[in-house]
Amino acid sequence: MPRFFVGNSLQSGDVFTLPDEVTRHVQVLRLQPGDTIVLFNGVGGEYSAEIISMERRDTQVRVGPFRDVETEPPYRLTLAQGIAGSDKMDWLIEKAVELGATNFVPLTTSRSVVRLVGERAVRRQVHWQRIVQASCEQCGRNRMPEVAATREIGTWLASLPKTPGEGELRVLLSPRANVSFSTLPNTPPQGEITVLVGPEGGFSSPEEAAVLDHGFIAVGLGPRILRTETAGIAVLAALAARWGGW
Ligand code: SAH
Repeated sequence: MPRFFVGNSLQSGDVFTLPDEVTRHVQVLRLQPGDTIVLFNGVGGEYSAEIISMERRDTQVRVGPFRDVETEPPYRLTLAQGIAGSDKMDWLIEKAVELGATNFVPLTTSRSVVRLVGERAVRRQVHWQRIVQASCEQCGRNRMPEVAATREIGTWLASLPKTPGEGELRVLLSPRANVSFSTLPNTPPQGEITVLVGPEGGFSSPEEAAVLDHGFIAVGLGPRILRTETAGIAVLAALAARWGGW
C-alpha cells in the first residue's frame, strides 16, 4: 500500500487536496480514483484514505479510519554526525531512519571537509529532512525523526547540560577508545541516547577531550577503522539487536 507523508492534521472523514509533491508521486504510481493509500503526518499512527478525484494538478482524498501502528524502537537515539562528504549523508540518513534513529544532529568539526553555512546550510537541512520523510514513507515509520540545524561541535556541546541526566547515555565512537562497544548496557536506557560519530578525518584531540568532558563514554568498534557512514549504521544495527528493536 503506498504511504505518503502530509504536513497537515488528519481526521477520519476529512476531504482535502493532497500537497503538490504527493500528487506528483500519486501520478507516477498511476493511482486512480477509488484506490486506497495510507497517509501519516509524523506524529504517530496512520490513516487509510481513498482517492476520490484526480485532475491534472489536484488529487482529492477522503480520510478513512485511523490505525495506531507503532514501529518505533523501545529507545530514543540521536545520531550526532560529523558531516560526511558527497552523498554519504543522504545515504546514512536514509539507513539510520530505517534502523530507528529518532533525531539527527549534523555537526561541523575542525576536520570537516564540507562546510555548511547560511543559505546552503538551510537548503541542506530541508534536503535531509526530505530524505527522512521518504525513508519513513518507505519503511513504515509514523513518527518522523527531525534533522536539526547544522552547527559547530563546540556550540552543540555547550547546548547540552554538562552532566547527562538520569537514564541518559552519551556515546562517542572513537577508534582510540579502550572501552569496547560490548560494555554498553544490555537493556535500553530510559533516557535519551546520543551516539556521536566523527567525519572522515575523525575528531581532533581537543574535540575528543571536550566531548569526554560532557559525560560521553568513548567506545570502540573493534580493530578495523570503519568509514564514517559505516560506523553509525553498524552501531544502530547492533543496538537494535541488543535492545529489542529486532
Ligand atoms: N583517522 C580517523 C578515522 C575516522 S573514521 C581517526 O583516527 O579518528 C570516522 C569516524 O568513524 C570516527 O571518528 C569514529 O567516530 C568512527 N569509527 C570508525 N571506526 C571506528 C572504530 N573502530 N571504533 C570506533 N569508532 C570508529
